[in-house]
Amino acid sequence: MQKLYFSEGLIGQDWAKDICLTVASDGMIEHVKTGANTEGVKVFGPLLPAMSNVHSHAFQRAFAGLAEYKAPCQGTVKSDFWSWRSAMYGFAQHMTPAVLEAVASALYIEMLKAGYSAVGEFHYLHNSHLDQSLSMSDAIVKAADTAGIALTHLPVFYEASDFGGKAPEPEQAPFIHTVADFNRLLQILSPRLQGRHRLGVAFHSLRAVNSASFGPVINMLDRISLKAPIHIHIAEQTAEVDASLKHFGERPVNWLLDNQQIDDRWCLIHATHLIDSEWKNLAATGATVGLCPTTEANLGDGLFPLLEFQKAGGHWAIGSDSHISIDAREELRLLEYGQRLARQERTVVVGESGGHTGLHLWTQAAKYGAQALAQPIGEIAVGKRADLIVLDAQAPCFAGASGPQLVDTLVFSGQPNPISHVMVAGEWVIQNGKHKDESPVFDRYRETVSAIANAERAR
Ligand SMILES: [Zn+2]
Repeated sequence: MQKLYFSEGLIGQDWAKDICLTVASDGMIEHVKTGANTEGVKVFGPLLPAMSNVHSHAFQRAFAGLAEYKAPCQGTVKSDFWSWRSAMYGFAQHMTPAVLEAVASALYIEMLKAGYSAVGEFHYLHNSHLDQSLSMSDAIVKAADTAGIALTHLPVFYEASDFGGKAPEPEQAPFIHTVADFNRLLQILSPRLQGRHRLGVAFHSLRAVNSASFGPVINMLDRISLKAPIHIHIAEQTAEVDASLKHFGERPVNWLLDNQQIDDRWCLIHATHLIDSEWKNLAATGATVGLCPTTEANLGDGLFPLLEFQKAGGHWAIGSDSHISIDAREELRLLEYGQRLARQERTVVVGESGGHTGLHLWTQAAKYGAQALAQPIGEIAVGKRADLIVLDAQAPCFAGASGPQLVDTLVFSGQPNPISHVMVAGEWVIQNGKHKDESPVFDRYRETVSAIANAERAR
């Protein structure tokens, strides 16, 4: 048990002063007192709930920036999501368990330093056979343990290259399972994800999964836990919407709503291209939409109808996806800026009810990110886990800001990162901006990624 004192911070939905938290030995918050006398260990700086990163493909961190060159052409070659995907598949071939662990360990430390305390790893690099699939999942769990981040592991079910069960492309071979093999993988993985870790499932997309396969996979997941999360990529690209209309006669989100029992266990990743009936009906299910603004911008996906969805009561969260950026503040800022640019307005996300834009973005994403990952975090309250961040009150960006303005400033002041301490399950994993093992982990990352780059150049 530990007692911690903070001068101010966000407790529940309210800004409070003189906060005393009692954290039990299992990392859960046992008692919260505000307006308290200085009690326990004094931690300087404003206090916030840590953020959930609901969508990660860890291996893609080592690929960030490597697909930004376009060769001169006659104007007929389009650089888009699909050309990026083809380059990314080539890069994925280098991933062994050891390489994946080295990349993910460094990535997860970077995430902690950026204020994320939990990550949803949408993991499709299985290498096909069961023993190889297990070693790839084990690499992800080891990386999460090295960093000290809470992992919601989401093994991906993937069986086809396109709608109608089209045979996989050769480069998709490492992603593929039968339903029987995948369910066996889930059964074996379940006891390996204990403590702060969770197991869920991800369906890669409607194009990669036969409609008859959803039921048996969800039945197996239900046997593990009725609360285990279910994620899916959906409606990221207009080509996917067109293909769904051609195959099902329905748009992707409409098909999902009509054919699966969508509820608060589900997280729909991207959901970029929606018509009104889709966002209205989706908002009513309690599911979360996982938005990845920096990746969606990098890949030229489009803009999600955030304000309309939110007004209808819809829940959303953020993810860093391809890891072109690892910064919760940048995801939130870009999310709001996309809406501003499209509408030629400011402070869009708070809508007619008004309020602090940065505070609104942080509290919503933290709360519903926790829901999407089935992690008991996202708010500082009794019964939640002590996943906390502490800001450096002396950082120049906070000069002149007070109370909830500190969170607006956190989101909208750009660099450098003013997060000084991060706690996961009652343990300080980042102190004064540093992780205790970052030096050897980053050295191993540099060596590993340089070796891949050399191998690519030699091809
Ligand atoms: Zn993704």
